[in-house]
Amino acid sequence: MDQPSLPSHFLRQIIEDDLRTNKHQGRVITRFPPEPNGFLHIGHAKSICLNFGLARDYGGRCHLRFDDTNPGKEDPIFVASIKEDVHWLGFDWGEHLYHASDYFEELYQFAVDLIKQGKAYVCSLSAEEVRQYRGTLTEPGTNSPYRERSIEDNLDLFTRMRAGEFSEGAHILRAKIDMASPNMNMRDPALYRILHQEHQNTGDAWCIYPMYDFAHGLSDALEHITHSICTLEFADHKPLYDWILDQLQVPARPRQYEFNRLNINYTVTSKRRLKLLVDNKIVGSWSDPRMPTISGLRRRGFPPAALRDFCERIGVSRSESCVDMGLLENCVRENLDATAPRAMAVLKPLKLVIANYPDDQEDFFTLANHPKNPDMGTRQVGFSREIYIEESDFMENPSSKFFRLAPGKEVRLRGAYLITCENVVKNPDGTIKEVICTYDPASRGGDAPDGRKVKGTLHWVSAQHCVQAEIRLYDRLFMVETPGKDADFLTQINPQSLEVLPHCLLEQSLATALPEDRFQFERQGYFCADRLDHSSRRLVFNRSVTLRDSWSKITG
Ligand code: ATP
Ligand code: MG
Repeated sequence: MDQPSLPSHFLRQIIEDDLRTNKHQGRVITRFPPEPNGFLHIGHAKSICLNFGLARDYGGRCHLRFDDTNPGKEDPIFVASIKEDVHWLGFDWGEHLYHASDYFEELYQFAVDLIKQGKAYVCSLSAEEVRQYRGTLTEPGTNSPYRERSIEDNLDLFTRMRAGEFSEGAHILRAKIDMASPNMNMRDPALYRILHQEHQNTGDAWCIYPMYDFAHGLSDALEHITHSICTLEFADHKPLYDWILDQLQVPARPRQYEFNRLNINYTVTSKRRLKLLVDNKIVGSWSDPRMPTISGLRRRGFPPAALRDFCERIGVSRSESCVDMGLLENCVRENLDATAPRAMAVLKPLKLVIANYPDDQEDFFTLANHPKNPDMGTRQVGFSREIYIEESDFMENPSSKFFRLAPGKEVRLRGAYLITCENVVKNPDGTIKEVICTYDPASRGGDAPDGRKVKGTLHWVSAQHCVQAEIRLYDRLFMVETPGKDADFLTQINPQSLEVLPHCLLEQSLATALPEDRFQFERQGYFCADRLDHSSRRLVFNRSVTLRDSWSKITG
């Protein structure tokens, strides 16, 4: 397929070569194979974009396959979340939804076939003994005393394993390959183990379960996968992948290719660690907006197109690397800058009274929803004698570089009027109660009638025309670039990763925002109505990202 604009990488080259040489009868069939033992994270997004993206670009298809061979750790909740996340990212498996467990009967028959060929045997060593016999990286292993069991005995024992006659750990089925192989994966690896556990898909139908390495390649073959793309840690398993497929009569011969997994600084991309964050209640759930899970990023307000853009930009290679979190945040910023309507929200309100503005008067200003995109329309923003500005936009004793509001100074209220600060009213404890200003009625819209220079422009909301909201400010979950490197990662949590502001004031137009609607709150950043907690009765917004990269070393 001629698509010169596609970024080229080694996997595209392999596929294009295969198409040219007609290796798989011109087909490209990939799969995304998550184990349903947790929620998907941003690393999985890379794999999803890669597998579904390659299938799309080369006119093929991509299967969603649940690699469900560990019944104890898997859960239908995870299955549902994975499907939702893949769809949300913008990909669709159509009718090609599978489970490794769909093939348990076929896999069993493949195992029987290996036994009949004398290439698999039932081993009755304990787990500890199996470990001892395996040898080390520098020493060869030792053959199991059960390695030469007769084919008849093996078939009999394997049948009885399936029938539930034995307890867990009594026997395993092993491939008979080479206990002296320099590759530990080839030292008679386990193919089946006994587990008296219910399975999320097959219930109590089985009490023996295939090992990942046995199930994976054969599932690929049964689905006629052409390119089985996985992360680099599986490179050592490839000889076993090939060995299994080469011994058996399989309907297709897939090939495994490895690429570099995605690591991002200031977070963790491992389901095991993410589960610890949930289990230790460091975050609220797998979908907490601070989590690098797809559902967490979604709730935070990251658009799916920004995640796809990010996965495209980081590229694919065979060398391990760590990507800067700032890159992901920048993809989000770029996307939202173009797509998010603007609005005004005051996060830490300070009351401001306009002394010469009549009590019974109100104004409505027509503001553009987007500075560069007239198609996004306009909205009416109400104005009255009492307004609120951001606490930090006023200083009683300003420094010379402070261009916002201060006694005697004039500023612009965005899209409304120019105002001058006349007075400050204090509470008994000395804190500021309100600021008294006057406005220039001739400056309607915010422009000085005589062209005088006014440097500061503030966002504001009118007391009569605003709604209250809770705003949640999120920051990076970890204080250190590489969590877990110098200490237990659970001790490196950023204590400021969440700040809740319960009494924010937003312009009235935001009262009708729906969950997951995204906005730029002027001068504050990009925000998203919370997917779970936001409703018309209780407005809750999450900050997705700040307007600029506050973590960047260059600008910081
Ligand atoms: P984890 O290490 O987080 O538990 P996993 O590899 O065990 O992840 P699976 O559900 O087995 O999770 O992964 C499904 C697919 O996603 C696999 O093909 C795997 O290679 C890929 N994948 C997992 N983590 C990453 C990552 N960080 N970057 C790219 N691909 C990944
Ligand atoms: Mg895995």
